[in-house]
Amino acid sequence: MPQTELPWLSQGLAALENSLDSGRFPHALLVTGPEGVGKFVLAKMLAEILLCAESSQSARVCGKCKSCVLFTAGNHPDYYEVRIPEDKSGIGVDQIRALSSDLALTSNLGGRRVAIIYPADQMTGAAANSLLKTLEEPPDGTVLVLVTARPARLPATVRSRCQKIQQPRPPVELAQDWLTGQDAATDWGPLLMLAGGAPLKALALKKEGLDDLGKQLRSDLLELACGHASPLDVAKRWEKVGAVRCVEWLQSIIKSLSLARAAATDMPPDLQKVGENINLGDLLDYSDRLARVRALLDTPANKLLALESLLIPWTRQLSTPANWQQASTL
Ligand SMILES: [Zn+2]
Repeated sequence: MPQTELPWLSQGLAALENSLDSGRFPHALLVTGPEGVGKFVLAKMLAEILLCAESSQSARVCGKCKSCVLFTAGNHPDYYEVRIPEDKSGIGVDQIRALSSDLALTSNLGGRRVAIIYPADQMTGAAANSLLKTLEEPPDGTVLVLVTARPARLPATVRSRCQKIQQPRPPVELAQDWLTGQDAATDWGPLLMLAGGAPLKALALKKEGLDDLGKQLRSDLLELACGHASPLDVAKRWEKVGAVRCVEWLQSIIKSLSLARAAATDMPPDLQKVGENINLGDLLDYSDRLARVRALLDTPANKLLALESLLIPWTRQLSTPANWQQASTL
């Protein structure tokens, strides 16, 4: 296994290595999972393993062969990354056609060829159709790795031709330890909550200077609960800081509260107390509503209305001021 800086990836990598050892490695993989858990890093590590000329069970990546040296230098002629061009909003059909014709040629170093498409859900319809032809008749020795947090956006015909690998969020403790290793002076708990448990996302939020955003959102909910702000007031504030971010934060909280109800162990005691005071059926209803609104935010729907539609039932079903005042860890 190559050294990973993201310790929680080792499990997914081991599964891939097993299928490599069994000799039944697929021509196409679909790496899915939430944003900020390192899916692209996982795909790239896999590419390095697949390309290494001296890869063995004891040393997946030798680090010395021509392939490894070129890969580390970012110069491997049989490794392709298809990403959104800076001046475009998606991955176009011309990019996929260029990739397909490259993959149809003989390998430069005589080994495998590996292409990563990221984020795969950002392919246009025409691009996905064009990719389908390559997926149906993959050239020998090629591996396509599609990486996306939103696999449902890919055509079913594309999905069905890939072996799916799900990279979940790491356990909270592992994520916290890793983040502390990056920066011991930061209180990562609220940022990790804001990032929906995804460590790389928590790191990005910190870099954006959003350490206190979780506290701000919590105080918005408190104002709502106390009647000091209306759902529309809060929706306006949340639209300004990013609707998706706020909804995902709320999703993390509801998930944590549901876990608190299930008496999960790694729950801060104050949050556990809040969870105990809320009806479980209400929590589950609200969780469904959040999932619907989160999906809506990927469409051109009105974000303000979407946020308001979450905050109105919040005041009715889930909030009592006393509850939220004691949730100091959010
Ligand atoms: Zn090597």
